[in-house]
Amino acid sequence: MPIIGIDDTDSKTEMCTTYLTIEILKNSNLDLIGFPKLVRLNPNIPLKTRGNAAISLTLGRGEGKGTLVGRIGKEEVRSFKKYREEKLDIDVMTLIERFSPKDKDTNPALLTTSEKNSEGFYWDAVSEFVDYKKIIERVKGEFSSINGQIGIVGANAAVSWPGVNPTYELIAYLDRDKWSGEHFVDDSSSMYIESSLPDTFDSFDFRNKYNAIRPTTKTPVLFGIRGTDPTRLIQYENYVKSEPYSSYIVYETNQGTDDHLIERSIGETRLYNSAIIRGFVTSGPVWERGGVLCFSIEMNKEEIKAVALEPTKEFRTLLSKLRKGDEVRVYGGITRVGFINVEKIQVVSLSKITEIRPPLCHECKTRMESVGRSGGFRCRKCGARSRTGEVRVEEREIAPGYYEVPIIARRHLARPIKLGIIK
Ligand SMILES: [Zn+2]
Repeated sequence: MPIIGIDDTDSKTEMCTTYLTIEILKNSNLDLIGFPKLVRLNPNIPLKTRGNAAISLTLGRGEGKGTLVGRIGKEEVRSFKKYREEKLDIDVMTLIERFSPKDKDTNPALLTTSEKNSEGFYWDAVSEFVDYKKIIERVKGEFSSINGQIGIVGANAAVSWPGVNPTYELIAYLDRDKWSGEHFVDDSSSMYIESSLPDTFDSFDFRNKYNAIRPTTKTPVLFGIRGTDPTRLIQYENYVKSEPYSSYIVYETNQGTDDHLIERSIGETRLYNSAIIRGFVTSGPVWERGGVLCFSIEMNKEEIKAVALEPTKEFRTLLSKLRKGDEVRVYGGITRVGFINVEKIQVVSLSKITEIRPPLCHECKTRMESVGRSGGFRCRKCGARSRTGEVRVEEREIAPGYYEVPIIARRHLARPIKLGIIK
């Protein structure tokens, strides 16, 4: 049974790898077995393309009625569980060549295999830096690529994804002659989805007035709605007021799974890892140039700097309420050695911050003053003395719990707190 994995057919400015799904289904006479898969890769790798997405499709001859998962033109797309094996009836590489931008930074890759490869390939590709040369030697299947072989990492990761706690995204596509220019997707529909449909996520950022269902570059995608129930997503498609579009497909995806995050000690982290690091705040938080908020955390005498950059908006203000001694679990990516970019945080416990100030005089009820270093306190009016100051506990402006960057700064893989914490 042909399982297809495709990586990196988009560039920074145009296309979207997922659009190949439409072209493959249009051209092949085979049926879709299971959902098409949209698999996001480690977001910290600098070579990444815009979306850092790969896709995987399984094709065969479906039996029975199947389930509705999309529409291409007037044709319904159905997905089947029961199927007969068939040979692939199209040349997928020709389609990839036809739709890939002619751009040296785009490295389209195709893997065709009759069985899934080990899921270990996926876990490495989603959380670490992977050397593609080592993958090529070990992968089962037929591989072809343009502009080098680096795309094997994503194509194989998509094919190997085990689909733990998946979410779904309904993506609506435009025909090729409409990809350029301005597009209309009404903000109010996105606001409605965000505020009224609790099984959806990352649709609209109210505070930053950002419509997250609509892409901002030249792309076949008109909008995408993310959620946890694929059948409901198809109903929600009707809620989006937009210009006409020609097709849509519901993908099963690793978006919103936190799959990229692995609990690591500070000493275990490597450049480009994604990690969850537990520790105590040792210094900061301080504001640095460019609106960067920075604090250090320590565990077992190892220290790392946690940073939140300007695009994370109000999340920085929240982090600025941390104090020395607070215990935290920082979720994020190692984009520079010794630094973790925070995308989510668990405040485990708060330290008690105290301050000693002069007490009130018993007689005069006025505030005493300090007498030198060792002299305690003295009343200026009556001369009474006291050795003990008044202990004031700082009222904390943050509570234990989970906090995350706003939708405008959210990474595809990051699990929104509203879906429930799983790591
Ligand atoms: Zn006094």
